[in-house]
Order: sequence, then structure tokens, then C-alpha cells
Amino acid sequence: MEVAAVRLLRGSALLRRNFPTCLPAWKSPPGALRASHSEALLSPAGSGLPGAPLQTLSDEELMIQSAVKKFAREQVAPLVSTMDENAKMEKSVIQGLFQQGFMAVDVDAKYGGTGASFFSLVLVVEELAKVGHGYKYAIGSLNEGRIGIAAQMLGLAQGCFDYTVPYIKERMQFGKRLFDFQGLQHQVAQVATQLEAARLLTYNAARLVEAGKPFIKEAAMAKYYASEVAGLTTSRCIDWMGGVGYTRNCPVEKYFRDAKIGTIYEGASNIQLNTIGKHLDAAY
Ligand SMILES: Cc1cc2nc3c(=O)[nH]c(=O)nc-3n(C[C@H](O)[C@H](O)[C@H](O)COP(=O)(O)OP(=O)(O)OC[C@H]3O[C@@H](n4cnc5c(N)ncnc54)[C@H](O)[C@@H]3O)c2cc1C
Repeated sequence: MEVAAVRLLRGSALLRRNFPTCLPAWKSPPGALRASHSEALLSPAGSGLPGAPLQTLSDEELMIQSAVKKFAREQVAPLVSTMDENAKMEKSVIQGLFQQGFMAVDVDAKYGGTGASFFSLVLVVEELAKVGHGYKYAIGSLNEGRIGIAAQMLGLAQGCFDYTVPYIKERMQFGKRLFDFQGLQHQVAQVATQLEAARLLTYNAARLVEAGKPFIKEAAMAKYYASEVAGLTTSRCIDWMGGVGYTRNCPVEKYFRDAKIGTIYEGASNIQLNTIGKHLDAAY
């Protein structure tokens, strides 16, 4: 049975690849940007430029994000450690992913997909990775796939961070919360900043794909940076949790293990740097 989010998407005008309404310039195909109306939008001083934050989501994207968050929390998270131990995905999770429309998210509905935007797919991967769901999604070609891996690493790192910070706000040592030691708090602030930067790179690369603009360099940057940040974040989270972080009783060590693959598949970090380097060579 189809769930509400997918039914709504499939049966309504939302099926169109809709962008946030505050990003009108991006709705236009590249050719249309040459029109006078669009020039006004692109002018920094132009009154039409909305200047919307990159993380602004359309109604469709918000709906999918909320549906996948609920599915991840209620139906995936409780099974993550079993799936990890058995090195096998639970049947109910695979079935749920299909039933909920979280597979083939950006494939046209007439071919059996959900018909949502590429950006929605990035949100799905990010939310599932937050609960430690390490399944690698086949996303289009290699270059688009790199954005998917960036989203996976971003979600994984964010999930690990979200698990750890409440712990260090509770854990008392030397009469204080761990969080209150400035040496630790600065590390948390640095990681949070890097997570934010990884999110912006990832979302920007996904928006470029949807806008039909060149995205190969940006996809490589997003994949490279998000996977490096995931490695750093998960390693730091183990440090911050101390001995308990190293045990298998809490999910942090799994996030740490899972993060490593991000610097390898869909092109190792050095290969992403090669791609970025080639673009820089051509640009200067
Ligand atoms: C869990 C997992 C899932 C995978 N899934 C898929 C899949 O679905 N589809 C698929 O096609 N492949 C898949 N792969 C393969 C993956 O894409 C490759 O492992 C990856 O591209 C790295 O290639 P490699 O293993 O041959 O390493 P190598 O190319 O041998 O690289 C080893 C090291 O050398 C460095 N290196 C290599 N060349 C250069 C260079 N020119 N300059 C500088 N440094 C360099 C790399 O950065 C790396 O650090 C998967 C791998 C894993 C582990």
C-alpha cells in the first residue's frame, strides 16, 4: 500500500520537479536566463533576487524529508545493529524503502519511480544515513552518484554528531559537564562548522544538477569534502565519548567504520582532487 507522501506526490501537481518558490531564477532553463526578466533576477542589486538560503526546501522536498525521517527513525533505526551484525539488510527495510517510494526517488512516475526531484533523492539518502543505514544507492551516473555519496557521508556524520553531543552535555567529569570544557567545546564548534560547509557543498551540487548547470567540479568537491568531514566527525565523536564510544554498545563506532568507505568508492579522495585540479587548470 502506498503511503501518504508518495500518494500525494504521484497524484498531484507536485510531481513536477518543483523548486522552492523563492528560487525563481533556478526554475528557468539556461537559455531563458538570457532574457531581460532573468537578467534583473541575476543582478545583485536587482529587486527580484530573493537571496534564499541554500537549505530552503520546496513543499515537495519538505514532505519527503519528513516522511523519510519518520521511516528512518521508526523502521530502520531499531534494526541497524542487527543488520550490521548479520551484514545483511532486513527484508522489511527493503520492502519499506520500495513501498514508501524511497527507491527510484527521482525516476519519472510513468516508469514506476516516485517522480520527485534529484534534490529530494539527496535528502532521502541523507536522512537514512543519519540513523546509520549504510546502503549505497545507485544514483545515475558517476558524477551524480558522487553527490549521493556526499549526502550519505553528510547524513552519517550528522547522525553521529547528533548522538554524541547530548552525551557530552550530560557526562560529568572533574565536577563539570564535558561540554563545558572549552578545549572540547571548540572541537565541537569546529566539527559543526565543517558539517555545515559539507551540507552547503552537497546541496549546491544537487541544485546545480537540477538547474541543468555544470556540476562536475562541485560534485567532486562535495564528495571529497563530505567524506573527509565524515571521517573527522566520527573519529572526534569517539574521542568525545571516551571508552564508551569505542564499544559496540553505542552506534558511534559503527558510524566511524561506515565513514571510511566515503573516501574510497565512487572515486577515491585523490581522484576527486584530480577532477577539481583539472577544472582549476582549465579555468586559470
Ligand atoms: C564497499 C564498496 C562498494 C563499491 N561499490 C562499487 C559499485 O557499486 N560500482 C563500482 O563500479 N565500483 C564499486 N566499488 C569500487 C570502488 O569504486 C573502488 O574501490 C574505488 O574507485 C577505488 O578504486 P580501487 O579500489 O581500484 O583503488 P586504487 O585505484 O588502487 O586506489 C588506491 C589508492 O591509490 C590512490 N590513487 C589511485 N590512482 C591515483 C592517482 N591517479 N593519483 C593519486 N592517487 C591515486 C587512491 O586515491 C587510493 O588512495 C566499491 C568499493 C567498495 C569498497
